[in-house]
Amino acid sequence: MIRYRLQCNKRHEFEAWFKGSADYDRQSRRKLVTCPECGSAKVTKAIMAPNVSASRSKPAEMTVANPEAAAQADKKRELVALMRQLRSEVEKNAEFVGPRFAEEARKMHYEEVERRGIYGEATQEEARDLHEEGIEFYPLPPLPEDRN
Ligand SMILES: [Zn+2]
Repeated sequence: MIRYRLQCNKRHEFEAWFKGSADYDRQSRRKLVTCPECGSAKVTKAIMAPNVSASRSKPAEMTVANPEAAAQADKKRELVALMRQLRSEVEKNAEFVGPRFAEEARKMHYEEVERRGIYGEATQEEARDLHEEGIEFYPLPPLPEDRN
């Protein structure tokens, strides 16, 4: 199939499909190709656009130019959503102890105080010490908005 962009003698533009250029020529000779607006059979070809389906699909392909990157972006969005959920859970159920995190975690570990959920800040050194002492803790994943 070939699509022809056609124009009548009154400059109405329209499109029509033909089996091929020979089909168009035959129909045109028999004055079967008429303008849908004014019915004129004085029709000429404007632009020929064969294989239209292929050129039509191009813009869609371009929006997903890199499907792998798109999938990764999706995954990242999911991950961020998950981290945000985790964080809000922690913030809802745990007490913020700020820079006293290592101290509080240690006190709980050695049962100097009652166990409870806490979250706070620890330096890398403190984190390493806690780890060495066998104190369980989980780093809260940073969220994109924290970097602002
Ligand atoms: Zn016309």
